[in-house]
Amino acid sequence: MWPLKMCEITTSTVLRMANNFIRKWLGLPRSLSNIGLFGKNTLQLPLKSINLGYRQEKARLVLELRDSTDPFVRNTKAPVRTGRKWKAEEAVDQAISRLMHREIVGRTQSGRAGLGWGTAPKFWSKATRKERKDLVIVEVVRSEEEQYMVRALSQRQQGRWTTWEGVVDRTIKWSDMWKMPQARLSFLIRATYDTLPSPSNLSRWYSSEENCQLCNAPNPSLQHVLSSCKTALAQGRYRWQHDQVLRKLAEVLEARRLEAAKDHSSTARKLIHFVGQGAGAQNITQRERRSLLTPGGDWNLRVDLDRQLKFPPEITTTSLRPDIILWSPSVKAVILAELTVPWEGGMEAAFERKKEKYTGLAAECREAGWSTVICPVEVGCRGFIGTSIQRLLRDVGVTGSKLKAVSKNLAEEAERASFWLWLRRKDMSWGKQGS
Ligand SMILES: [Zn+2]
Repeated sequence: MWPLKMCEITTSTVLRMANNFIRKWLGLPRSLSNIGLFGKNTLQLPLKSINLGYRQEKARLVLELRDSTDPFVRNTKAPVRTGRKWKAEEAVDQAISRLMHREIVGRTQSGRAGLGWGTAPKFWSKATRKERKDLVIVEVVRSEEEQYMVRALSQRQQGRWTTWEGVVDRTIKWSDMWKMPQARLSFLIRATYDTLPSPSNLSRWYSSEENCQLCNAPNPSLQHVLSSCKTALAQGRYRWQHDQVLRKLAEVLEARRLEAAKDHSSTARKLIHFVGQGAGAQNITQRERRSLLTPGGDWNLRVDLDRQLKFPPEITTTSLRPDIILWSPSVKAVILAELTVPWEGGMEAAFERKKEKYTGLAAECREAGWSTVICPVEVGCRGFIGTSIQRLLRDVGVTGSKLKAVSKNLAEEAERASFWLWLRRKDMSWGKQGS
């Protein structure tokens, strides 16, 4: 950052630097916008925008020159040159006027949080010299990030992620980035922003024509390849992907089931939580959160993998086969989980559809005297887990760092399978070799 701050480099040079090297390294096309790489998106990469760092440092320099304690420095009015595209002085002035405006507006509340929630913002007139400097720099960066978001919303194809519902953000850390094979990382980024060379993209870029090798649909899109090709469905490609993810999920639930069976003590342990004066009450709800898997209950697990699942006849008889059944005869409780691996844009729809499908069965179970929970859960095919799956995992007692690790595991499983589906999109021989 120091050379960026001190040298007279123009904004466009910095942008070129950021673009060329990172793209070449990750094998990303030019058409992928900067927002995908540096924005605070559903897919968060650890790349810090050089451009953002550059603007931050230039703004800092402007402030240092302007508010210097040395009158000689203050009065020279040395210009900070940044080229024509972006002017540091203007950006700083704008940031200051926004900060002053915010003070007039006063403290506001956003979202569903109650009045007075969160920490009070520092107001401009009450800030010290150093705090003012920090406020301005934060504001310069924020306005730049806002620009990213505005641009993302206006992008019809690459900005699709802004419309995803019920999807949990995925953060890629540097440590993940080094471990992941470069081809898969590149696939993940390009799939998220739909910039893979799918026939529908190729036809848009070079006006070429290509039919789906499997079902002959004209110019298939990535969505077609990964989740809606009829022939691929018939060949069992999506089933295979679904089962890969289901196996991972079942392993986690099985581990939890065994833990719950061992844990007899916690039913007897009823703790009273005293709250100290002025202390928050948030920890309590978390600690008292009861697991759906009642400890000590003789829980059974059945998963619709390898051989056909038979619904436990002691509960009810049905031809439906949910992916996972967890039930306990002693507690008389059933948990039905159904996994879908949908296109991220259709996650909410998948949830509603599956919920609808099992409503009747759940009613039957309840009539037979079993307390029943239906949990439709989703892991998006491009490696983004749904909020529903986090809810299920939390409910069975997977929390904290364990929850993070499991979420990451499930997301990677779906994404790895999608990569495989993508690579074999033209290969008709699926299933013949027993894959
Ligand atoms: Zn097809």
